Amino acid sequence: MLNVYQQTITKPISFRGIGLHSGKKAEMTIYPGIEDQGIIFKRVDLQKDNVILANYKSVSSARLCTTLENKSGTKVSTVEHLLAALYVSEIDNAVIEIDSEEVPIMDGSARNFVEIFKKTELKTLNKKRKYLKVLKKISLNDGEKNISIEPNNQSFEVNFKLSYKNKIIGNQSNKINFQIDDLKEICESRTFCLFEDIQKIKKIGLAKGGSLENALVVDNDKVLNDQGLRNEKEFANHKILDLAGDFLLSGYRVLGKVNCYQGGHALTNTFLKKLLNEKLSISVLELKDDVVSKKIDNSQSIKLAASA
Ligand SMILES: [Zn+2]
Repeated sequence: MLNVYQQTITKPISFRGIGLHSGKKAEMTIYPGIEDQGIIFKRVDLQKDNVILANYKSVSSARLCTTLENKSGTKVSTVEHLLAALYVSEIDNAVIEIDSEEVPIMDGSARNFVEIFKKTELKTLNKKRKYLKVLKKISLNDGEKNISIEPNNQSFEVNFKLSYKNKIIGNQSNKINFQIDDLKEICESRTFCLFEDIQKIKKIGLAKGGSLENALVVDNDKVLNDQGLRNEKEFANHKILDLAGDFLLSGYRVLGKVNCYQGGHALTNTFLKKLLNEKLSISVLELKDDVVSKKIDNSQSIKLAASA
C-alpha cells in the first residue's frame, strides 16, 4: 500500500524504558505533528536549543546506533528502531518529547512501538506525502561492505546479506518488500551482538543498559537468551529494520530496491548523503489521488505524478 497523503497520530503516546548504550532511564511522549513537519525530537530535560530534526544531515555518529545532533550540540541517540516503527506504521509527522539523551530500547526491537501505533487512530493530513523515486542504480562500497539502490517504482524493497564467522549468524540473508510482505518478523527482530564483543563495546562506554532483556547475545554456537530466536532470520531481519529506520532520515518514503552486504548505520548514512546528492538519478514525486490505499500487486503499475 502506498499512501497518497501524509499521516500523523490523533493522540499522544508515551513509552518509558532505559537506553541501550547510556543505561539511562527515559520517558518519551509522541505527539501529533503537522503537515511537512516530519519527525522532530524535543529534549524536554533541557531548557533551550532542545529541538533535533530527524534528518540524515543531523546524524553525528553512527557507531553501533544512530545519533542525531542539532547545531547546539544537543543529542538524541538510538533513534533507528523508533523511526522504523514510524515508517512501517505509516506515520509521517510527529513531535517526540524525551527527557533523556537516548530513546528507550524496549525489548531491542520495534515490536512494542508498532503494537501501540497500530492501536492508535491515525489522521490523514491535507498535504501529500513525498516519495523519492530512484531512476538509476547508485552504489557505495566501503571495503567489503556495500550498498546499492536501483529502480522499483512500486515499493521499498531491501535485500540484506550478513556474513559472520559465527556459525549461528553465518551467511544469513533476507529480502523484504515493505509494501507486500508481512512485516511482523522484521518488527520483532532484536538487536544482537557476539558475547565476545560485549567487553569491547562496554570499554568504549556503550551498551551500559544492555542485557538479555533487550538484545540477542550469541556465544559461539548458542543463543544465550532463554527463549532463543524469535524467527529464523532474526539477525538479517534486524539489519533490515535498522536500514528502514535510517532510510526515513532521508525525509522521504523511498521507492527503490536496496541491496546491502555487511552494512550498518554508518554505511547507510554515508549512502543517504550520496543518494540525495545524485540529483539526476532521483526524483521526488507525489502520488495521484486515484491510487489511494490501493493494494499493490506485481502486475499493477502505479501511476506516479511529478510533484509541482
Ligand atoms: Zn538496531
